[in-house]
Amino acid sequence: MLQGQMMDRPLMISDIITYAADIRGDQEIVSARVEGDRHRYTYADLAGRAAQLANALRALGIGMGDRVATLAWNGYRHLELYYGISGIGAVCHTINPRLFAEQIVYVVGHAADRVLFLDATFVPLVQKLRDQLPDDLRYVVLGDDTHGLEGALAYETLLSQQPNAIDWPSFDERSASGICYTSGTTGHPKGVLYTHRSTLLHSYGLLAVASEVGLTPTDTILPVVPLFHVNAWGLPYAMPLTGTRIVMPGPKLDGENLFRLMDEEKVTSAWGVPTVWLGLLGEMRKQGRKPAGFDHVVIGGSAAPEPMIREFEADFGVRVVHGWGMTEMSPVGTLTTMGPTLNAKPEPERRAFKSSQGRRVFGCELKIIDEAGNRLPHDGEAFGELLVRGHGVMDGYFANAEASAQVFDADGWLRTGDVAKIDGHGFLYIVDRTKDVIKSGGEWISSLDLESAALGHPAIAECAVIAAAHPRWGERPLLVARLAEGQTTTPEDVRAFLADKVAKWWLPDDVVFVDDLPHTATGKLSKLTLRERFKDYVLPTAVE
Ligand code: AMP
Repeated sequence: MLQGQMMDRPLMISDIITYAADIRGDQEIVSARVEGDRHRYTYADLAGRAAQLANALRALGIGMGDRVATLAWNGYRHLELYYGISGIGAVCHTINPRLFAEQIVYVVGHAADRVLFLDATFVPLVQKLRDQLPDDLRYVVLGDDTHGLEGALAYETLLSQQPNAIDWPSFDERSASGICYTSGTTGHPKGVLYTHRSTLLHSYGLLAVASEVGLTPTDTILPVVPLFHVNAWGLPYAMPLTGTRIVMPGPKLDGENLFRLMDEEKVTSAWGVPTVWLGLLGEMRKQGRKPAGFDHVVIGGSAAPEPMIREFEADFGVRVVHGWGMTEMSPVGTLTTMGPTLNAKPEPERRAFKSSQGRRVFGCELKIIDEAGNRLPHDGEAFGELLVRGHGVMDGYFANAEASAQVFDADGWLRTGDVAKIDGHGFLYIVDRTKDVIKSGGEWISSLDLESAALGHPAIAECAVIAAAHPRWGERPLLVARLAEGQTTTPEDVRAFLADKVAKWWLPDDVVFVDDLPHTATGKLSKLTLRERFKDYVLPTAVE
């Protein structure tokens, strides 16, 4: 080997914020605050305050490898935490406040967090859990005062005592920078430790498709996806690297509030899960227009229903980008980036690609395998379990050898637990979760495809398809639906509606209407809870 002769400088997260302050120092960051007002400052201010925070953390005795937790909405102070914590080599643990109380206690203990930074909104939650949290955990309330949290420090006081400059340290780029816990369907949440290296390379991966997803210096981005949900899909790093204008939505994520914020701040590119877009679309329908300047909507976290994609694009002229990823990655794996040739295709064909989960981002390789572990072709037909590999994919869960031992194949690829097909252009189509797919007479039925089709029914607001036991077929699909307000329908009508949209043998054997569907901490339908609820359900077709 001939050794190259380039400087071996580690990839550091702190370099992003230093660069953003140097190059885009006057770019604006707007935050709808917990306090109720709208706060404005610049990247230069962000860099200065991240330095103040880093100095304050060191004064509290925090150093390399120490875990520092956050319980906060999307706002400028949370961004400061991302940079201030990781910048000194500590590990930013973003806690999802929607986890069950006992899971929050578990993750704080498992991560061995030393300090917890929290928005004032979460003071009552922390007060309730306090006796179960470690005695030596320090608390900092993100604001001017401590809102009655005994023994806590006020963030602004903490920062005001520190200089707004720092010589960011340089260290091994493979050091942990952040940790996220999966919201976990079974057992305890599992932690994923990201590195400075994986974070930077992932940001570059997003930048490679920047103009196609609305991530350019002339864009104004609204990350609705929470900073506590897999690093808000990498935006906290990719936005400053690009120098986009940022609008942080705070806690109010209903359609009316999002519309107003987007309209007044001229947001061009908004990122979030399908549930929030249902709310926003309702408001857009009501007002008969889109928020001014709205150009790109990036949808991920769970499947974007086809009617949603159609409404955004055809009715309102908003370009949809659909993406897939997971906590076990840095986290975006695929995005529906089209390129000029596919964009030029006629409408139905183009829209079909948009309904897929997209093509891999740089640094994430995909493969699908059959039950024997053999690779399946990327022909758009064959489907099997999806595995991923890349510099943004974890190689084990934090301090959990048992769970880690179960998720890799012999070649070191990560098993995603998703069932998928991949077409000749490289588009990924998630068919189901391996646990959710319905096995009817040895054949697989995609619960996701059935749900997507059923959502086209005007009376159905939300639905889930789960497997119900059947004496002849093993499992048959059961559709559980929540009706839209003021609407009625019947199981026969829903089945008739689906008849020309899915194969005949896919039609659900029964349709049940419920007032509410269960959700996980990340807002996804909790099929586990639903299956539990319907475990004794007897399908009409199962009765001889
Ligand atoms: P999480 O780690 O909570 O982000 O969950 C990751 C899982 O969410 C993936 O393994 C998929 O099952 C699911 N998921 C994420 N994005 C999508 C999408 N666009 N379509 C379908 N499923 C998705």
